[in-house]
Amino acid sequence: HFITFEGIDGSGKSTQARMAAEHLRARGRKVILTREPGGSAGAEEIRQLLLTGDTDRWSAETEILLFTAARRDHLEKTIQPALADGQIVICDRFADSTRVYQGSTRGDLRAMVDRLHSLMIGREPDLTFIIDMDPATALARGLARKSGEDRFEDFGLGFQETLRHGFLALAHAQTDRCVLIDGNRTQDQIASEIAAHL
Ligand code: C5P
Repeated sequence: HFITFEGIDGSGKSTQARMAAEHLRARGRKVILTREPGGSAGAEEIRQLLLTGDTDRWSAETEILLFTAARRDHLEKTIQPALADGQIVICDRFADSTRVYQGSTRGDLRAMVDRLHSLMIGREPDLTFIIDMDPATALARGLARKSGEDRFEDFGLGFQETLRHGFLALAHAQTDRCVLIDGNRTQDQIASEIAAHL
């Protein structure tokens, strides 16, 4: 099974992805925990290209190509081999992040994102947890752990709100695989709701 976690920065998705992996491992399942952008040697190199440098380093279109190239490498080298081996793959962000971040925040490029996805990726998760979170709280958390090296980190509250609505729209459009999780609760409350779904 292929399970993804999505949400805005600071929503707690990485923590919940880790807790879900621990939950399944404690029950004897073989699980790999991976992330995007990144998750394979080549994709981690592309992550560096994406996250460093000036804000205008890449055009919106080039950025989509780089995210897609990273995802393709991650799929070939990490995700598909693990699934073929019968492992559960848990991924912190996947194509939904590109649909929301690149597809709706830098002009209306969703059609391009969708075409590249069907051409080069063509795989959806079996289950996606979308962690919904108050953007102001999420932004405060994100700023508290700001590394200063991520060129995507400098967007404000309005940007976070746009992203939140993008993820909510996705959750409502893809109800066959998406579960919307209220992230405005304690870590343990959220983790037990997710464990129940798993
Ligand atoms: O989830 P993570 O913090 O590792 O993501 C790294 C950065 O890349 C974040 O600032 C996130 O907002 C950004 N990102 C993006 N588009 C994506 C995925 C991540 O702008 N498709």
